[in-house]
Amino acid sequence: MRAGVLGCLTLAATIAAAAPASAATRVVATTADLAVLAVAIGENLVEVETVVPPGSDPEAFEPRPGDLDKVRHADILVRVGLGYDYWLDRLIGQIADRRLMRGGEAYVDASAGIPLLEIRGQSVVNEGGHAHGVANPHYWLDPENAAIVTAGIAEALARRMPAEAARILANRERFLGELNARLQRWSAQLAAFTGVKLIAYHNSWPYFARRFRLDIVDFIEPKPVPRTSPSSSPRGGERMCARFCTSPMSPTMPRASWRKNSAFRSSCSPPRSRASPA
Ligand SMILES: [Zn+2]
Repeated sequence: MRAGVLGCLTLAATIAAAAPASAATRVVATTADLAVLAVAIGENLVEVETVVPPGSDPEAFEPRPGDLDKVRHADILVRVGLGYDYWLDRLIGQIADRRLMRGGEAYVDASAGIPLLEIRGQSVVNEGGHAHGVANPHYWLDPENAAIVTAGIAEALARRMPAEAARILANRERFLGELNARLQRWSAQLAAFTGVKLIAYHNSWPYFARRFRLDIVDFIEPKPVPRTSPSSSPRGGERMCARFCTSPMSPTMPRASWRKNSAFRSSCSPPRSRASPA
């Protein structure tokens, strides 16, 4: 009898443990950054997959055959937008499922509502990678933009799981509370770098720089792209002694680019050194 009861309890526990996974909403995010936010908001209500593998450059990504199925079976599809993950349009077109298309119930363009930087006067589609389209797409590097991104994700999840809407909103509130606490700490830590001139690898950092009052005077691109800001060449006579790399790009690439760039060689300190705060 006891064995039977234990067996029933074990079976019930097994079913209970398995239930969230089997019932989980399947979220597919194009980048790991968006996937992390989806996990924070959905917790165990969601199973989150990323299209671009860790360590890969999303702006030069080529979808693999399995990615088509991954996107096809998404309950919620979250993308960066602004031409950053331009390759996703091709997959969506091949799948031809209206719910995954712009305006569909499963489609989340995380850039919706973001106050954009480096807006161009014309709609330019980024088809070559790294040549930004309608605006600079690296908005997630401002931590405060997580409030807007998670609002879009939460709305889509609540639409998909209306019975869990309160829980989803509570998850978001808790996440944003923790983020704001950390943001204050990060701002205090970075205050010492106000005015330090930085050179970045790729034009990824304007949102981050604006949030933390950093001065990115130029950037190195992996390949030639049209310049939009902040200048076409390093400012003459100034010492620029730091570099930013956009994870998850290879940290060896900026150094290689640096060595190839004679203008930087002649006017700047080596990238490994760091300036004292101004
Ligand atoms: Zn970019």
